[in-house]
Amino acid sequence: MISAERQTPRVALVTGGTRGIGAAVSRALRDAGRRVVATYTARRDEARAFEAATGIRTMAFDVGDFAACEDALARIAAEDGPVTILVNNAGITRDSTIGKMTRAAWDAVIDTNLGAAFNLCRLTMPAMRTEGFGRIINMASINGQTGQFGQANYAASKAGLQGLTRALALEGARHNITVNTLAPGYIDTAMLDTVPPQILADIVGRIPVGRLGTADEVARCVTFLTAEESGFITGSTLSVNGGQHMA
Ligand code: NDP
Repeated sequence: MISAERQTPRVALVTGGTRGIGAAVSRALRDAGRRVVATYTARRDEARAFEAATGIRTMAFDVGDFAACEDALARIAAEDGPVTILVNNAGITRDSTIGKMTRAAWDAVIDTNLGAAFNLCRLTMPAMRTEGFGRIINMASINGQTGQFGQANYAASKAGLQGLTRALALEGARHNITVNTLAPGYIDTAMLDTVPPQILADIVGRIPVGRLGTADEVARCVTFLTAEESGFITGSTLSVNGGQHMA
């Protein structure tokens, strides 16, 4: 028998949790009774407005920097308790075809999208093991499943998250730590601002449901996969793409 009732709320860390998909995830986890900490890097005013509107604690640190992650997790553990729900959501793009892609653009995307997931899984899984509970969600992408022209760095980082998920799912399984990947299709957030309107219209034309997804639709999946009762779902990839790609 699995009980969803607990005296102390579990602590959830949502990276990039103050806007876009991450903000919807932070709100949904708060509404599910979790104590949420949402991270950001640069947009302090936006993060402060989010904190004021939602009551969700925000913290600024670069998730690609191992020492910064270590320091942040120590502060969270001291003030809120150990992180047992981790949503590796922060992500960036630096698009160009391979002939023009700089080494810096490759490194930035790999470090933020994939390296950060290593940092935070590495630093949270020991405490999850001690607690006998852990839920990790790695935010991948349809473009990691299909590949995408001009996104060698981004597609590699997102496909890499699927391999990381499967390996850690095996390591966590005996300790009630589940690790799953979400693979959103095209979701209506600021990340799509860099996509030219005609290309975006073509993309929407290829989505069977005929529209972009919403951040709330992705957040619902995170709430489901991080629930106490979801302990038998691990190592999986859940696609949230309006039928655009059926893996
Ligand atoms: P946004 O660009 O709207 O938000 C990205 C968030 O990540 C921001 O909060 C940003 O912080 C944070 N961030 C970026 N770099 C770092 C860093 N080094 N350290 C800490 N935080 C960082 O993205 P979306 O909400 O659209 O996307 C969220 C995730 O979903 C990403 O991983 C993305 O790849 C994935 N995804 C998105 C899709 C879409 O169509 N939107 C489709 C498929 C996947 P700050 O606010 O300070 O800039």
